[in-house]
Amino acid sequence: MAPPSGSLIPERPLGRSGIRVSSLCLGGIFDIQANQHVLHRALQLGVTCWDTADCYQGGRSEIGYGQFLERQPEARREIFLISKSDARDPEGMTRLLNRSLERLHTDYLDLYMLHDLRSPSELTGEMERWVARQKNEGRIRLFGFSTHRNMEQQLLAGATLGWLDVIMNTCNFRLLQGAGMQNALEKCGSAGLGLIAIKTQGGGPIPADAERDPAGQFLGRGFSVGQAKLKAVWENPHISTICSQMHVVRHLAENAAAAMDQTTLSWNDREGLAHLAQSTCAGYCAGCERLCGAALEQPVPVADLMRSLMYARSYRDIELARECFSAIAPGIRERLLATDYTLAEQACPQGLPIARLVREAVELLA
Ligand code: SF4
Repeated sequence: MAPPSGSLIPERPLGRSGIRVSSLCLGGIFDIQANQHVLHRALQLGVTCWDTADCYQGGRSEIGYGQFLERQPEARREIFLISKSDARDPEGMTRLLNRSLERLHTDYLDLYMLHDLRSPSELTGEMERWVARQKNEGRIRLFGFSTHRNMEQQLLAGATLGWLDVIMNTCNFRLLQGAGMQNALEKCGSAGLGLIAIKTQGGGPIPADAERDPAGQFLGRGFSVGQAKLKAVWENPHISTICSQMHVVRHLAENAAAAMDQTTLSWNDREGLAHLAQSTCAGYCAGCERLCGAALEQPVPVADLMRSLMYARSYRDIELARECFSAIAPGIRERLLATDYTLAEQACPQGLPIARLVREAVELLA
């Protein structure tokens, strides 16, 4: 499936904001400084939603976008630019926002987010007032958070807060099989929140052969399994855009082709994805950390450790895996290895061998 020449990625509304964004978003968890040609091609294809964060690649992601915008300042108004903060206090958020604006060579962000929300309790009244000030001063247009864990609970909590605009969350053909996820997306949609889906290929810490196409039904209909997985997420009417890491032009072209293609999934395609989700679920971490976390005597960032392994094994990106591991588990190597995970494994709905995987994460990434 090649992108039709001359056509652009379709746009979708971003919640109640009145803003439309490209339905495919360029995820910036890679060294964009060294991949400027990907940005040029993204713009040509109409992939105008660009995502990054202060922490990605030690800042090289933001610097790379900024390098592009410094050379092509006229492109700024075409791009819906997203960045994120790991700070939670107003002073820290101001400092990181200033740094993002400086690196990105812009005086405003279209969307600013809290990176990797751990609990809705991080969304304080003090933060709400900070957001209102930044919007008044024209430094950000919209605000929200990203999350990889306990997604249903975080989405439902976000839907009750009138001052959030957008949530970026893990969402894929596996999680969409559950009524809980469908309901949480529906609640956010009804509340007017824009939704950005990430981790849409559903890779896990134990790589499954998730690209296999047993009945040949996807390839027979002209798209790959990876493209079918994207289509499954776009089928949800509340998802505004899919944010995907696209390090190389070939990957960008494949995703863009899926976004432009008007073919919808058939009943057989959906059944095929449901079967794939079920038959490969044993290697996937669903991020439901409240379940395994409650079964541990002392806190261990299990979902983050599984995500580190996923980057190493499903994404085959060892640098990203090490970066993720070192951010979440500094100095707790001995505790990770000494913890008894028996009850956590019993609580895990995916049946993951948590003890073995934690040990493998430490051995591979520490
Ligand atoms: S290890 Fe199991 S219980 Fe823990 S977050 Fe992953 S899937 Fe959920």
